[in-house]
Amino acid sequence: MESKNIKYTNQRIEILNFLKDFDGHPTVDEVYEGVKVKLTRISKATVYKNLRFLTDKGLIREVNSKGVSRFEGNLVPHHHIICVECGDITDYESEELTDYSLKVAEDIENFKVEATDTNFYGFCGKCLEE
Ligand SMILES: [Zn+2]
Ligand SMILES: [Zn+2]
Repeated sequence: MESKNIKYTNQRIEILNFLKDFDGHPTVDEVYEGVKVKLTRISKATVYKNLRFLTDKGLIREVNSKGVSRFEGNLVPHHHIICVECGDITDYESEELTDYSLKVAEDIENFKVEATDTNFYGFCGKCLEE
């Protein structure tokens, strides 16, 4: 990762810190609500632009659920459990699954696989109760 070429503006540092402390996968709105406590003059558009930038640079990860972008600072390879009803996302760590997927990927022709993650779709406990 070419981190030395990345300009760490105050905004980017605050967003990275927020994501690091946030337990889950916040939406742009949630990141905005979180960082504006400290960056009182920041706009939602700026938060969005910075999230895009950080995702492009590989410093954070984007996950989609129900067409909504969510972000996370956890770069350790992991999988996601996604509720199709409420859009809730939970991390699912399984080295076994990662290793297996990468092994399967060796059979893919004309393509060099660098990473893999699996999404499990279904209904979360809360939605099942309702
Ligand atoms: Zn749910
Ligand atoms: Zn995650």
